[in-house]
Amino acid sequence: MSPTPDKKDRGLILIVDDNQVNLDVLARRLERDGYRVASRDNAVALEAAIEILHPDAVLLDWMMPVRNGYEALVGLRQIYDSHHLPIIMVTARDEGEAVSDAINAGANDFVTKPIDFKVLSSRLAGVLARRQYVIDQANMAAELEHLVALRTASLQEANAMLAEEMRERAAAEQRALRLARTDSLTGLPNRLRFLEQLSAACKAQAGPNFYVIHVDIDRFRSINAVHGPEAGDAVLQEVAKRLLGLAAPEELVARLAADEFAILTPCPQNWEDAKLLGEAVHQTLKEPLRIPNRNLSLNISIGVAGSGDVPCDDVALLLACDAAVKAAQSEGGDRIAIFDDTLAAKIRESVTIKAELAAGIPRGEIVPYFQPTVSFSTGEVNGAEVLARWNHPTRGLVSPAVFIPAAEETGLVDDLFWAILPRACEAALRASQTAKLAVNLSPSQVLDQFFPQKVLSELNRAGFPPKRLEIEMTETALFADMSATKTALESLRNQGVGVALDDFGVGFSSLSLLRELPITKVKIDRSFVADILRVQSSATLVRSIISLCDSLDLEVTAEGIEEEQVAVQLAEWGCHYGQGYWLGRPSAELVSVSPWNSDRQRKAA
Ligand code: C2E
Ligand code: CA
Ligand code: CA
Repeated sequence: MSPTPDKKDRGLILIVDDNQVNLDVLARRLERDGYRVASRDNAVALEAAIEILHPDAVLLDWMMPVRNGYEALVGLRQIYDSHHLPIIMVTARDEGEAVSDAINAGANDFVTKPIDFKVLSSRLAGVLARRQYVIDQANMAAELEHLVALRTASLQEANAMLAEEMRERAAAEQRALRLARTDSLTGLPNRLRFLEQLSAACKAQAGPNFYVIHVDIDRFRSINAVHGPEAGDAVLQEVAKRLLGLAAPEELVARLAADEFAILTPCPQNWEDAKLLGEAVHQTLKEPLRIPNRNLSLNISIGVAGSGDVPCDDVALLLACDAAVKAAQSEGGDRIAIFDDTLAAKIRESVTIKAELAAGIPRGEIVPYFQPTVSFSTGEVNGAEVLARWNHPTRGLVSPAVFIPAAEETGLVDDLFWAILPRACEAALRASQTAKLAVNLSPSQVLDQFFPQKVLSELNRAGFPPKRLEIEMTETALFADMSATKTALESLRNQGVGVALDDFGVGFSSLSLLRELPITKVKIDRSFVADILRVQSSATLVRSIISLCDSLDLEVTAEGIEEEQVAVQLAEWGCHYGQGYWLGRPSAELVSVSPWNSDRQRKAA
């Protein structure tokens, strides 16, 4: 039954034949050809034998007793198809009809007796090859199916992961979008979100008028500088809370910048309502607020602009609001300004002024005026404050109150400074050996790290001793960047340049500033000086500033002295220097006499 070892196994053939001789001959021949052979001498229960043997093909004799080949074929085909169990019928030469019956009943092929072994061999090879082909195909299909199933499963898994990832990403994007439009400190919508809503409101044509109420905290920077950034944050959070508390549901409250908030309100139908809302905002924010360890009251400037008054686009509206806030601030702050025709005209005017100023500075149109300062102890004019004047070709002499703010906004204030400093030094050198000069500095200038060097080299060039120069700055200038300012002031101080704190009393009047910064002089603001004889609180304030300076070893100047009795009173209180219209008006020339010393000289004579 086993094939010769050098021949490859060509499969198991079951021979079913009742003739033992036939069986033996066939078996031998097939085994020689490399087949394994099993045999049965009848077809009874052939199905069971096949079940056990698993032959690759069956040679089935047609004529057999009990159960002939045809009956066995029909039985087998109910279980096995022709692909998996090829059956070759063995018939006698004269059983022609039987062949067609057999093929119809599912035989794969037939051979006739006496068997020509070559024919059998080729038919057997044929059916086995087909069988193998079918099995291979089925295996391949099964394998493919398996692979596809695996691939599908992994694709499904990947899809599920992808879907989850996409969900997460979408959520993250939503979060990022929300965060990008939210101010992290106050939780309010930020500038971006406000602009989006504003521009949507502008685009919604035929809608009702709406208003923008722009809120700005005056001198917020100094709150940070004096009380620390945590206090600043607490103030901003409280402002946000109050604005939210005030706003109607359909109004949008946003934080536009550090200390700038805005309300977009579709509610008011007219200016009066908008103004009332502005006033309510002002009042609410004016209520004292508590920051860690202290109470604070804010000064708030508010600008209001309406869609009906400006070409309705977001930028124009914001610019209008901004202009209104600036107008409120330029009038001293802590008030409401409304963008109307007058303000619009003012803005146009300021645009013109800026352009003319840019052209006028290089042409030498800005000239220094000098206002004398008098020492109460010696009675002498000890120097002058340099005050810029604009010799405008058509407007005449323009006040710095008009062009300094414009110069500051356009960054021209530095050019202006360098245009008048050399001329002022020359004039002072011409006028006297000792007269001091005080020059005003704008906030932005001290932030230039080379400023001290530039001043010193200019003084050097002009031959003006640094000891004769004093710079005047307001508190606002100092707060911009405390450490940079301190460094700049110290290097000027080291060269002998004096540093005066201007307009003292109106701002924060921070005592810590006086101690921390290298300040040599305090100038008491003219608004207090002017009415010391009439207003008790002004008198008290001026007296206490004088004694404070005394104890801190600082010089003190009172500015805005318009009458003799005021000068007398200040001298009596121990004020060191005085300045004002009564002592001498600003003029193109430095003067060395004032009513104060001429009076004393007269008396002495
Ligand atoms: P300031 O530094 O407080 O200068 C004093 C201002 O008070 C000057 O106004 C002066 O003319 C005015 N004044 C002096 N005495 C009296 C008085 O008795 N009564 C009244 N009512 N006013 C008096 P001015 O020249 O119009 O300057 C206004 C402001 O412009 C100055 O205030 C200063 O802050 C700024 N400024 C002037 N020149 C310059 C400059 O060259 N650079 C910079 N950055 N600012 C300047
Ligand atoms: Ca000044
Ligand atoms: Ca001043």
